[in-house]
Amino acid sequence: SESQLEWINHFARLPEAFHESPAPAPFPDATCLASSPAMCERLGLEAAALGRDPWLGACTHGSELAGAEPRASVYAGHQFGVFVPQLGDGRAKLLGEVRTPTGETWELQVKGAGPTRFSRGADGRAVMRSSVREYLVSEAMAALGVPTTRAVALFGSSLPVYRERVEPAAIVLRAAPSFLRFGHFEYFHYNGYSARLQELIDYALAHDYPELQGADDPVAAMLEAVIARTAEMVADWQAIGFCHGVMNTDNMSLAGLTIDYGPFAFMDAFDPGYICNHTDQGGRYAFDQQPQIAQWNLIRLAETLVIHFADATREAAIERAKALLQGFQPQYRQAWLARMRAKLGLQVEQEDDEALIQELLARMAAEGVDYTRFFRQLPDLEQAEIRAQLESELEDGAAWQAWWSRYQARLAREGLPPEERRAAMNAVNPKYILRNHLAQAAIEQAEAGDASEVLRLQQILARPFAEQPEYEAYADLPPEWASGIQLSCSS
Ligand code: AMP
Ligand code: MG
Ligand code: MG
Repeated sequence: SESQLEWINHFARLPEAFHESPAPAPFPDATCLASSPAMCERLGLEAAALGRDPWLGACTHGSELAGAEPRASVYAGHQFGVFVPQLGDGRAKLLGEVRTPTGETWELQVKGAGPTRFSRGADGRAVMRSSVREYLVSEAMAALGVPTTRAVALFGSSLPVYRERVEPAAIVLRAAPSFLRFGHFEYFHYNGYSARLQELIDYALAHDYPELQGADDPVAAMLEAVIARTAEMVADWQAIGFCHGVMNTDNMSLAGLTIDYGPFAFMDAFDPGYICNHTDQGGRYAFDQQPQIAQWNLIRLAETLVIHFADATREAAIERAKALLQGFQPQYRQAWLARMRAKLGLQVEQEDDEALIQELLARMAAEGVDYTRFFRQLPDLEQAEIRAQLESELEDGAAWQAWWSRYQARLAREGLPPEERRAAMNAVNPKYILRNHLAQAAIEQAEAGDASEVLRLQQILARPFAEQPEYEAYADLPPEWASGIQLSCSS
């Protein structure tokens, strides 16, 4: 059979104030260039089915797919700190929500499938460049264990798209348990649609947080859960050296997933103030700002939810929201520290671990060492020759050796034999990440209609912690030209 997906489409059941049914739009010479084996399996969908109708047509030009009910949703958001009262799915269309043969539920969305009522004069399209990046990184992040929206397939076309240059259009079929954003709540709250906001909250509780529906105060419990998930997600980002680039509130997921990959980057040389988005001149979304920006965004969400808390008075509700929000930093800090300890191979918790970690990060920043390669190499540095090689490349060998001695003394308080510690470290310090220059090579081929490098990268990045000797070059330092790659909001 074509697929055993059962369409349940909960979002489409909300009243019309929440969405519109977008019109189909042409996508000439549509082809399915790549699909995710992991997601096809999760969905119980044959990869080949995505390359022919009805899936191909439904994903690309909006033709009929039995059970699907395409919708574009309205939301708002704070973009670079400034409130925009209406945004929405300007180029994404929710096909619907499916229940898989194993009982999982997934919302399926096509991004770049043409204009909607929320396009604000823009073309509703996405270029191949940004689509390849979103496609690859979604699955790479999942393999790294980071909460993320997923990518099911990448589609190409002969359709030209006009940005700074003419680029080929593409569509990504993406999937998530929920595509709700903080911005959905902001739209109804700040525009004064309080009855609609209540409906949205009820929907979000039933759909995204059903386990909290019976709580004493379900809305406060939901805020608390979003805070906790967001703290974990950002701790993952900081630990792997991932910079999102556009942490506007409309790009923040209620389910705590990394969403809307644009000018993101994995850091090469470690730089805490790294800015991946060239449009972000003030560095609002710089790498080291991400935790506090996440908290700022959570405050914007809390403002929409607080009057729906169960407290007797508004003042009491506000006090409780504040207390929950104050929990973000300690939760984040603890989650981050746990990940950094693991990166250093520390299983025992000691008082001065954080100082040891901060000193290492300061050294790494001063020397500009490659973030991913350094941690991957760390257990090998116990071999004197390999350590001597690193030391020969450092400016301040004495400072490094002081740290190394401290680290060795600290490791002496650990119980694991070195070989086991090495395996544990290699299971959290990836060897393969989607560096900009790797994506760039895949993009250039895909723009010419050849997806073979996309497929190769997808395969390598599906096993980021494994040694893959045939792909050693994919773990190399970036070439000189990589520093010239400019990432912006243009996508
Ligand atoms: P982003 O910065 O990609 O998260 O997008 C911000 C807002 O602009 C969202 O509401 C998008 O749907 C919308 N948007 C971005 N690019 C386009 C486009 N090419 N056509 C229509 N809407 C777009
Ligand atoms: Mg967005
Ligand atoms: Mg976007």
